[in-house]
Amino acid sequence: MRNTALTKDAQAGLSPQSVLQDLLEGNERYVANNLTSSDVTSLVQQTTGGQFPKAVILSCIDSRVPVELVFDQTIGDVFVARVAGNFENTDILGSMEYSCAVAGSKLVLVLGHESCGAVKAACDGVELGNITAMLSNITPAAKMASEEVEGVADSSNKEFVAKTVENNVKLTIERIREKSKILQEMEDNGEISIVGGVYSLSTGKVNML
Ligand SMILES: [Zn+2]
Repeated sequence: MRNTALTKDAQAGLSPQSVLQDLLEGNERYVANNLTSSDVTSLVQQTTGGQFPKAVILSCIDSRVPVELVFDQTIGDVFVARVAGNFENTDILGSMEYSCAVAGSKLVLVLGHESCGAVKAACDGVELGNITAMLSNITPAAKMASEEVEGVADSSNKEFVAKTVENNVKLTIERIREKSKILQEMEDNGEISIVGGVYSLSTGKVNML
C-alpha cells in the first residue's frame, strides 16, 4: 500500500537514473499484474498544498496506454502530457520546462506505442480537419522509415509502422533538445535525462530505445 506522497526532500534525493529505474520497475509490476494499491484519501490530503513529481511523461492519448498504471505510479508521482502521436509542440515544451525547471522533475520520458493510430494515419497521409496539421508532426518519422524499411510505405506494412513509431520518439527527443534551451542545459548539467521508450499493446512492456 502506497501511503506517502513524494516530498521536496525525497524528490531532491532522486537522480535521473534512479527515476528511470523506478519507472521501469513499476512497469515490471504492471506486466506482472501486481500493481501497488494507493491510499487515495491520504495521498490527496498530503498533496493538496504542493507536488514534487519525479518525471514528466509525454504519451499518446491512446486509451490502451494508461500512463500512471503502466509505470505503477500514483497521485503526485508524475506529470503526464498527452497528444495523439506523442510529439512536442510549444505548449508541451512549456509544460516540460515547468515540470523540470520549476517543479523539480528529473526525467523526461517520451513514450510511443505499438500500432499507434496517429502514426498509422501519418503513414497513410490522412487528411481530415485539424488532424491533417497534427499529423504533419509525425510525417518526418514516416519519411525516415520509408528509407529504412523494405516494402510498401503505408499502414498495411507492420514493420514500416513500427519503425515510424520508433523514429517518431527519437525525432521528438531530438527536437525537444533543439527547441528547449532550458531542458538541453539541464540535461547537459546532469540534472535531468531525456529518454524514449515504446509501449507494447500486447504485453504491456515498455522497451527503452
Ligand atoms: Zn497512439
